[in-house]
Amino acid sequence: MTDTLSPFRNEPYADFSIPASRQAMEAALAAVRAQFGHEYLLRIAGEEIRTAEKLRSLNPSKPSEVVGVHEKATPELAARAVEAAHAFLPEWSRVPAGQRARTLLRAGAIIRERKMEFDAWLVYEAGKTWPEAEADVSEAIDFCEYYAREMLRLAGPQPVVQLPGEKDELFYLPLGAGIIIPPWNFPLAILAGMTAAALVAGNTVVIKPSSETPTIAAKFAEVLAEAGFPPGSFSLLVGSGAVVGDVLVKHPKTRFVAFTGSRDVGLRINELAARHQPGQVWIKRVIAEMGGKDAIVVDANCDLDKAVEGVLVSAFGYQGQKCSACSRAIVDARIYDAFLEKLKTRAEALRVGPADQPGNYMGPVISEGARRSILNYIETGRKEGRLVAGGASADGEGYFIRPTIIADVDREATIFREEIFGPVLAVTRARDFDHALELANDSEYGLTGAIFSNDPEHIRRAREEFFVGNLYVNRKCTGAMVGAHPFGGFNMSGTDSKAGGPDYLLLFLQAKSVGEKTGHQA
Ligand code: NAD
Repeated sequence: MTDTLSPFRNEPYADFSIPASRQAMEAALAAVRAQFGHEYLLRIAGEEIRTAEKLRSLNPSKPSEVVGVHEKATPELAARAVEAAHAFLPEWSRVPAGQRARTLLRAGAIIRERKMEFDAWLVYEAGKTWPEAEADVSEAIDFCEYYAREMLRLAGPQPVVQLPGEKDELFYLPLGAGIIIPPWNFPLAILAGMTAAALVAGNTVVIKPSSETPTIAAKFAEVLAEAGFPPGSFSLLVGSGAVVGDVLVKHPKTRFVAFTGSRDVGLRINELAARHQPGQVWIKRVIAEMGGKDAIVVDANCDLDKAVEGVLVSAFGYQGQKCSACSRAIVDARIYDAFLEKLKTRAEALRVGPADQPGNYMGPVISEGARRSILNYIETGRKEGRLVAGGASADGEGYFIRPTIIADVDREATIFREEIFGPVLAVTRARDFDHALELANDSEYGLTGAIFSNDPEHIRRAREEFFVGNLYVNRKCTGAMVGAHPFGGFNMSGTDSKAGGPDYLLLFLQAKSVGEKTGHQA
């Protein structure tokens, strides 16, 4: 099968300036809208289950609209899902890697066929604008394509030294039953990426999606089933993280947890998973990708317009709700005022409104809770610095917030230190490049960062000293591409798993070494 696969290439994005693409997207939005309010059942090892309590997911651009109605899992059902995953492991792990990879490629192909439909679900349930939704869905396809190829590579012979008189081998086995806990902000890409990696490696999984985006997860489960992942290989368990999360993480048959989300929940999962439970015969593995407080350094010697553009899209794309979003611009004092002036003009021109209307650059934030929390941070920020742009909600029924810039922010300020996860940018003045690097590294996080500079020595120093998992030079700090920018951060940003890179699948595998005596026995 390896011979027949072309080298990996990233899924191209639809160009919505082309009338045919625009019309296809309008049609997909209408088709998805016609399914609003549909009820989706839990899926435990192929069995569809109804429960007493329901969860309604809303359209954040228009919260009076219910996108999907979902059954809420109970702790008992959570335990049942882990046990079902554990029970099916012997069967799924024996399926040859080539067949698992083919199944995953089929899943990617189905998403590709239904791309605009998925785009539309992301517009309505996650509040993504068309291009942001398209990037998310394309990344999900990339993960399927990339990890299928990675599994084939890892299933092949591994280079070990051959001792005289022995045949020496190393091969990879799956880990076991795993829990997949994604966030809502890349509700398809991260959900699909973590699930794809786990399944293609031969593990079975229980997927617990975010309560904000369960319909997208239900649609993804349809894809897994249609692609041919056996019913026993995965369960979809919608429910409150607080109610079912602990049961899933603590269960003695849980072998690993792949989590992407906030720092606090990641730390809690890590702690709980570390505790031995009666009957547990392994140390659970935790893959935890967490928050960010990402900085862009704007050097005195740089292309100022490019820097303004890079900061703008990194800070306000998807309303700043990316772990990779720029939330701190650290600007050399010599160009500080000119930079701020240009940035303010550009930010004030950004249109904010319903995500399904293609003229809007920014849609809503995810929920009323998020809106309140972000507005509170803005209030704090007003006291900690100088409000330059935004600072309030935008008109409309949705959870809209204007792109907000707060200047003259000190390194001790709350809005310099805490992840806000919304369209709020703190701008800080640096005395010189040394000071800028020092400020950029003054964070408990270390996910992404960027530097805009024309000075080769400063770029060299950023490569060495800017302590982030993903560094970008003279470009935005968002938009990591599978294969090109393996993704993951340092420090409190997580375990640096490097999703979409050659190290990732190993996190879902364990290596076994076999040394066999050959020829005459001594
Ligand atoms: P969150 O931590 O609130 O939730 C993440 C997931 O954990 C959800 O599915 C949630 O239901 C679940 N959960 C909540 N409590 C739980 C518990 N006690 N046990 C088990 N699961 C539980 O995060 P969020 O608001 O969904 O996502 C935003 C966060 O994710 C931000 O901090 C962002 O930086 C981070 N993020 C990081 C990356 C990365 O690659 N590093 C990527 C995307 C998002």
